[in-house]
Amino acid sequence: MTKVAAVITEVKASDAERRARAALKMGADLVELRLDYLRDLTPSVLRHLAASTGSRAIATLRSASQGGARSLPAQDRLSILSMLTRLNFHYVDLEMETDTAHIETLWHEAARRHQDIIVSHHFDTPVEVSDAADALEACLGMGDVGKVALPAANFEQACDLVELARNRRLQSRRFVLLGTDPIGMLTRVLAEDVGQEIQYSAFGQPSAPGQLGLETAARLARRTPVVLGLVGQPIGHSVSPQIHEAAFAAANLPAVYLPFEIQQESLEALLHAHDRLRLRGFNVTIPYKETVAEMVDELDGDAEALRAVNTVVMTEGWTKGHNTDTYGFRMALRSKGLRVGGKDALVVGAGGAAKAAVHVLLREGARVRVTNRTASRAESLVEAFDEPVDVVDAEDLPQDDVCDLLINATPVGMKGGPDGLPVPEASVAKAKFVFDLVYNPPETPLLRAAKRAGVPGISGIEMLLHQAAQSFELWTGIGPPFGAMEAAAREALG
Ligand code: NAP
Repeated sequence: MTKVAAVITEVKASDAERRARAALKMGADLVELRLDYLRDLTPSVLRHLAASTGSRAIATLRSASQGGARSLPAQDRLSILSMLTRLNFHYVDLEMETDTAHIETLWHEAARRHQDIIVSHHFDTPVEVSDAADALEACLGMGDVGKVALPAANFEQACDLVELARNRRLQSRRFVLLGTDPIGMLTRVLAEDVGQEIQYSAFGQPSAPGQLGLETAARLARRTPVVLGLVGQPIGHSVSPQIHEAAFAAANLPAVYLPFEIQQESLEALLHAHDRLRLRGFNVTIPYKETVAEMVDELDGDAEALRAVNTVVMTEGWTKGHNTDTYGFRMALRSKGLRVGGKDALVVGAGGAAKAAVHVLLREGARVRVTNRTASRAESLVEAFDEPVDVVDAEDLPQDDVCDLLINATPVGMKGGPDGLPVPEASVAKAKFVFDLVYNPPETPLLRAAKRAGVPGISGIEMLLHQAAQSFELWTGIGPPFGAMEAAAREALG
């Protein structure tokens, strides 16, 4: 059984004790007291911490060379470690590299009090998996628990670390093997699944990259994990992690949503990682929506029509691609009571989002026109549909007719994207309703222009939420907790 440890990194001993008690109350099995963070590291402080929380604590004095907050002179370090092994701490962490000369003596001292010694080693840059395995063997040979932490070089290496942890030779041993970066989170979410001794989790600010929050770690404890995530490059701008994490918490599911910021070469390995990683599916974003559509075993109707996938569901190795952007767009229209049958819609943009919008609008019976900065791209988009769709030259927009629905499917107005309006302000005033697919910021320059002209409008947040809700349902088979998802999205978007 993997024990969930909340890492405590306070600088004052009284705060460390208070936070440790709070973490244990919140469901942590253990706390890791990071003594290297403490300013007042005196014998009486250590005795007090040992008496108050020691039986459920790991005492760690991480040295600076192993990622700690500070270094002590060798003699001071040794006298503190000797004291720790004579106090009532459940575990004491010793470093393979820093403490080599004293580990044996300290281990014997600890054994007399039934205390467990963790011998750890931290790599600060990626190394070969065989080097990590050697370091783990060395740590295991020196204490009760061996611990190795390292950043994974890429997705394949993170998978290899999971394989190493599953290795039969490790199954009867007490070990921790973890990746200290976003892709290395795989080793953390599968900690229980591969039989690791401890899940180090964040209580407040993470002390290492990729650490799960205590709440998530406690939700996963003693349960089979469901691994989901977002595949793309880049993905840092996405609020999908916050939306799905809130949904899993609200539904109390042992699920996690990981960032898979991977190279195209790694897609194949990801699609075959169902069993190894307990992967049940993932969302897909730029630039892989079309590529993944060509790689999955089956496509749903919308994904087939658009040859683009934003959600993959994996069932016993079978991969099915869905396009929940279309559902999101449809539901966003419905949520505002917009019936588009027989109405005139003008779509600005000719990328994936524009194609999804045109697809839905045509199916709902709208008359659709498309305009785009690069006219040839708009021409190719309309050729993909059997129904007639007109292309409007961007220069002709000022003379263009009134339209019932104006849709922005470009990144113009997006936070960090191109400034300004996707169409002239006069065209905004001629629309009866504006739908900006951009969701960050929630009020875009286009929506502000619409407001000035007295034209009602909505942002892309509704579409984003509905596509996320459908992905959630496809993966879990249960109704999405929409309110929790919406609150998380609004909080993340500020
Ligand atoms: P995409 O495939 O890269 O297409 C981008 C489109 O925007 C292209 O037509 C491009 O024109 C045009 N464009 C880019 N920069 C422009 C500029 N400075 N001025 C005028 N046109 C410009 O992207 P996508 O996947 O379709 O996404 C488009 C936007 O939709 C995203 O930025 C996102 O905000 C939004 N979106 C929202 C949701 C949601 O759930 N709410 C879902 C998907 C997308 P060219 O052909 O000339 O390059």
